[in-house]
Amino acid sequence: MLYRNYIDGKWVESASGKVFESLNPANGEVLGRVSYAGPNEIDSAVEAATRAFSRWRQVPAPRRAETLFRAGDILQRRKEELAIMLTREMGKVLKEARGDVQEAIDMAYYMAGEGRRLFGYTTPSELPNKFAMQVRDPIGVVAAITPWNFPLAIPAWKIMPALVAGNTVVFKPAEDTPIMGVLLVQILEEAGLPPGVLNLVLGPGEVGAALVEHPKVAMISFTGSNEVGREIAIKAAERGKRLSLEMGGKNAIIVLDDAALELALEGILWSAFGTSGQRCTAASRVIVQQGIQEDLTRSLVERVKKFRLGNGLLETTDIGPVINEPQLQRIHNYTEIGLKERAILLTGGKRYTEGECARGFFYTPTVFALVKPGMRIAQEEIFGPTTVLITVKDLEEAIEVNNNTPYGLSSSIYTQDVNKALKAINNISTGLVYINAGTIGSEVHLPFGGTRGTGNGHREAGNAALEAFTEWKSVYIDYSGRLQRAQIDID
Ligand code: NAP
Repeated sequence: MLYRNYIDGKWVESASGKVFESLNPANGEVLGRVSYAGPNEIDSAVEAATRAFSRWRQVPAPRRAETLFRAGDILQRRKEELAIMLTREMGKVLKEARGDVQEAIDMAYYMAGEGRRLFGYTTPSELPNKFAMQVRDPIGVVAAITPWNFPLAIPAWKIMPALVAGNTVVFKPAEDTPIMGVLLVQILEEAGLPPGVLNLVLGPGEVGAALVEHPKVAMISFTGSNEVGREIAIKAAERGKRLSLEMGGKNAIIVLDDAALELALEGILWSAFGTSGQRCTAASRVIVQQGIQEDLTRSLVERVKKFRLGNGLLETTDIGPVINEPQLQRIHNYTEIGLKERAILLTGGKRYTEGECARGFFYTPTVFALVKPGMRIAQEEIFGPTTVLITVKDLEEAIEVNNNTPYGLSSSIYTQDVNKALKAINNISTGLVYINAGTIGSEVHLPFGGTRGTGNGHREAGNAALEAFTEWKSVYIDYSGRLQRAQIDID
């Protein structure tokens, strides 16, 4: 099957005829051929979105929202089928794939609700017989550039708020998960989006780069690595474009001596190894207080060794493959770095090739101990099933270690002491904080994003998403019938 670009309401092949393949990372199965967007398709997509913008922004927001409600219903109806394809294309186990689809459903309904809010503010004027208010305006054509690890949820996080706010969109999904991108756009088309309002261009990073550089793209909403995000930030600054960035993480779970050990263990296993560690919120550090360190380490390694690797479609699988060969190499490279840094490898640390897994990209769940906070494996994002144990003496040291990385996305603390939990909430400097839960598990109606190298101050999800996808317009209505000068006629 050939998956095509979607431009101005039509599914089109690229003029160059170039195609690439989408592969199942569990076994190398070819899932489909994908038409590669060239300069013609990219330009046509942006032009279509530009033309559609002047019409779409005039559609009343509650009417725009109706499309999202219908898209939510279709996603809900097709949830199982979408989850199966998501597991085949991205690799995560089926129950997590269902969660990915559910996040898109939740976002569709939540942002549809915003169609009847999109609140602005009124405020008194400093002058008599004058009325003041601020209202939201859409920005224009938004380029949505997304990674492969949440191939349905992350695009939904961008496309749904952008559309309800009155923007039009050109969407560039990751090269590793184009089919999920196509399916999402098909659903929004079926839900009744007019031609040109949402366009899809398929292909590698250079397609994203062309969108960033296109003069008619007003805003870039990007989720991905810091390396690419930084490159985009420079180009956007040079061109004066609005930019929302969601990038990497080096998230930690803090376990204090008074923690409920079993609960903490469950949180670590889920947060460090769920999605094979390929989540921006994955717990790739465990900061453990010295009194509980021995018990936690022993139980953790015992449990990690029991994980069953395999195809995510099988009920028996705990951990699926990683996305591709370069990612596998990158993860293994970090194992070698950890060994060179003299951290102790407690388990894992190699490619997994048993049985059917030999045809896919599997990596054994890996735990390092005796890790110092400044080591590269404790500072850099690995984005794989690897976590490192760092021992600390008390809460203060734990928070200092937690905060001291180039990233600031998610943190968690396990403690039974309410005072310690509140001190942690106050002093942790990441965008997300969990108490007695792991580092993953965001809900769509709360802001999502991070500090330092993780982002550029914007947040996705929640009503905070609207701050990224709208401009404020301040409106003054003078009904005094005379010239009133602000700051001057105040006596
Ligand atoms: P990536 O390599 O940065 O790619 C992200 C997207 O950008 C892909 O669609 C990619 O296309 C495209 N791209 C690549 N080079 C580009 C360029 N020069 N200009 C414009 N677009 C370009 O990231 P990834 O490997 O897909 O995803 C993993 C990263 O995403 C991790 O660092 C993870 O932490 C981060 N992430 C962050 C969040 C968050 O919300 N904070 C959520 C999920 C993931 P191709 O796929 O075709 O290369």
